[in-house]
Order: sequence, then C-alpha cells, then structure tokens
Amino acid sequence: LTNDQKKFLLDSIRDIPDFPKPGILFKDITTLLNNAEAFSLLMNHLEERYKEFNLDFIAGIESRGFIFGSALAAKLGIGFVPIRKKNKLPFTTISEKYALEYGVDEVEIHIDAFREKKGARVLLIDDLIATGGTAEAAAKLIKAANAECVEACFIINLTFLDGRKKLDELTSVYSILEI
Ligand code: AMP
Repeated sequence: LTNDQKKFLLDSIRDIPDFPKPGILFKDITTLLNNAEAFSLLMNHLEERYKEFNLDFIAGIESRGFIFGSALAAKLGIGFVPIRKKNKLPFTTISEKYALEYGVDEVEIHIDAFREKKGARVLLIDDLIATGGTAEAAAKLIKAANAECVEACFIINLTFLDGRKKLDELTSVYSILEI
C-alpha cells in the first residue's frame, strides 16, 4: 500500500475517546467497513499478500477478527476458524487464559478446528493489537490444536504498547497501520 492509501484507510477509522472506559481511545473500524472503497482496498491488499502464503485456514479473534478473517478466507478459498471468548463455543474446546489490566480473560478454540490436518498453515487475524495478550493466547491455541500459526495480522498496531513483543517467539507479525 502507498502512504496515501494508508492515510485513506486510517482516515476511514473513527476515534472514540473514553470507550469502553475512561482513558481508552477506541479505534472504531465500523466506519472502514461501511466505506466500500476503504473495505475493498484493505481486503484486496490482504488477498494479494496472503495468496502466496499457501495457507490452509484463517483463525479470527472475536469479534472484529471474524469480519476481516472470514472475508479474507472466502477470497482465498480456504476455511475460517473462530477463536472466541470463554463459554461461547458449543463443542469441546481448548482454552488459554491471559492477563488483563485487572484480572484475567480466557479464549477458546474447538479441539477439532483444523479438521485433523496436522501442521495446518494458519493465519491469525484481528482488527487491532494493543498489549498483545489476546493475540498471544490465540497463537498458543492454534499451536495447542496441532496447527502452525505462520503469521499474525492486524489492521492496526498501537506500537507504543509494544504488543508484538509478546508474539516474538510464537509467530511473525504483520500490521498495516501503525499508531
Ligand atoms: P490486547 O490483548 O491488549 O492486544 O487487546 C486487543 C483486543 O482488544 C483486540 O481484540 C482489539 O479489538 C481490542 N482493543 C484493545 N484496545 C483497543 C482500542 N484502543 N480500540 C479498539 N479495540 C481495542
């Protein structure tokens, strides 16, 4: 993407101060999704990048990772796997806890998510990486389900939080817009 295209994408994302709590500047990607030009520019870029990766699956993190991940999976002609918050997936799951600012959270994947394909090549995707805790737990789940997380992809990286460091030993990281 050119710098102008990146600026166009960044400008399509809305900033919401103090959501969901005071002090957080929430990056609202709904204004990118409802902008046809921005959404297709982004999805075409992701398709171009990942068509050479020989991927077997895309795993998306609840809930905005589902939107980008399933759109990309359909473009690439591969399957999509949801990684969800605790107690949402109906079949047998593997779970992974991770630390929040206050307390812990937990994400889960179905035990048979990758259809018994050992070493399946998986792209992990979410809209945004902040501290990296969610993505780290998700990458561990992919490994625990006997697949390989070949890359973790984010539309936005809040680089000042240095979240990609948490993924260093698990997978490579690609982000499109850095803040
Ligand atoms: P973290 O585990 O700290 O990297 O947080 C990443 C998860 O929280 C992702 O699923 C993001 O969608 C969401 N998130 C964290 N911070 C923000 C933010 N400033 N704006 C929008 N989403 C955020």
